[in-house]
Amino acid sequence: MSSPVITRFAPSPTGFLHIGGARTALFNWAFARHTGGKMLLRIEDTDRERSTEAAITAILDGLTWLGLGWDGEAVSQFARAERHRAVANELLQRGKAYYCYCSPQELEAMRARAEAEKRPVRYDGTWRDRDPKDAPEGVKPVIRFKAPQEGETVIHDHAQGRVVIPNKDLDDLIILRSDGNPTYNLSVVVDDHDMGVTHIIRGVDHLTNAARQTQIYLAMGWQVPDMTHVPLIHGPDGAKLSKRHGALGVEAYRAMGYLPAALRNYLARLGWSHGDDEIFSTEQLVEWFSLDAIGKSAARFDFAKLENLNGHYIRHTPDAVLLKEFLAFLPHVEGGPEMLKALEGGRMAAFAKALPGLKERAKTLVELMTNAAFLFAVRPLALDDKARALLNDEGKAALRGVLPVLKAAADWQAPALEAAVKAHAEQAGLKLGKLAQPLRAALTGTSTSPGIFDVLEVLGRDEALARLADPL
Ligand code: GLU
Repeated sequence: MSSPVITRFAPSPTGFLHIGGARTALFNWAFARHTGGKMLLRIEDTDRERSTEAAITAILDGLTWLGLGWDGEAVSQFARAERHRAVANELLQRGKAYYCYCSPQELEAMRARAEAEKRPVRYDGTWRDRDPKDAPEGVKPVIRFKAPQEGETVIHDHAQGRVVIPNKDLDDLIILRSDGNPTYNLSVVVDDHDMGVTHIIRGVDHLTNAARQTQIYLAMGWQVPDMTHVPLIHGPDGAKLSKRHGALGVEAYRAMGYLPAALRNYLARLGWSHGDDEIFSTEQLVEWFSLDAIGKSAARFDFAKLENLNGHYIRHTPDAVLLKEFLAFLPHVEGGPEMLKALEGGRMAAFAKALPGLKERAKTLVELMTNAAFLFAVRPLALDDKARALLNDEGKAALRGVLPVLKAAADWQAPALEAAVKAHAEQAGLKLGKLAQPLRAALTGTSTSPGIFDVLEVLGRDEALARLADPL
């Protein structure tokens, strides 16, 4: 029996959870779920200057919000430095690494020579075969990996195919600094090995590291994990995704009112595909997910597409679930806490009643919130410019005409109100729009809202009639 799949997500906690990182996490998660395996979480916090607690919290929050749970406790890479040092020393003992005593000046001279000769800058192997007896007094050495110089290193990558890197292109990497701190590629290999990681799925920007890491695995006689290097995410213009394209942090997508399920669906399509399927549930993603269906070319982040997809999810989420999502969203957005207070202070029933109408018209929860504002407005309503224009003399006359009809309505529910208003419009020779727009302006203070008969119903008879009378 083959061993169970263990994937890992290994973010560096130097900022928020990047949208590209979230996609990497999603792929690791989906593959682990698909195979009945595990996804581990490792915080790569060895850069002590740039790693912060706040960033760790933001990453854990982002993953949790996206519904990408990890198995077991998060592992701190920094906390494992002792073990990384031990492996560096083991490599030394195995003759796969050596002490290098080059001074900064010597390294600088090496660099200058390479540049002058227009060669790539590489360590020239000064101490590779030199007798340690030559070691200068009082110099603390680094440990360098003795990389193979002949042949090539091959990576069998699900997304990139067979990647061949000539060994002459990879120099002898420092694995332990003179201050005893392990370097990145060593730590990653030791951690992945010790954590039992069977499959590495990460950004293609780590492909060169993958070659160096493969060499370290082989030097230790460890099994090289299965590799998938996922293409980068580009902006709509084809350039690497950056701030100028739009938000990069997952928490910003939460605050913009995206549903986690919609974002999962959208991110899954960035680099992975299942036929022509664009809209699929997370269960389907897990069922269908395969590493070989990850493409090689960069994916383009299409903000409009994400918004449309989110609108689809909002429309198709059952009301009770959407209500829960909305309440969980409010604390994260400007004006949200106030709305939450109003809801909890007695407006919940009205909101729940309005939700079926509201969700038809909102692509994001922010839009839904804006469109729901009429429910919380206090009389007399502040009118926006368009609403004020709609309540000109003609608009007011239309209101005056319809008000008695509404006052007389016995049944204050949308279908009955609609029938009554339509009958009145016909009788008065008015197009329904000519009536509906001034009604909307007076009832909501704006020119856009859910269907006007739904608005009447959710506001309730007294509040609705009072709002209609206010401008007259
Ligand atoms: N910490 C690395 C990053 O955030 C990931 C390293 C890896 O996945 O091997 O890019």
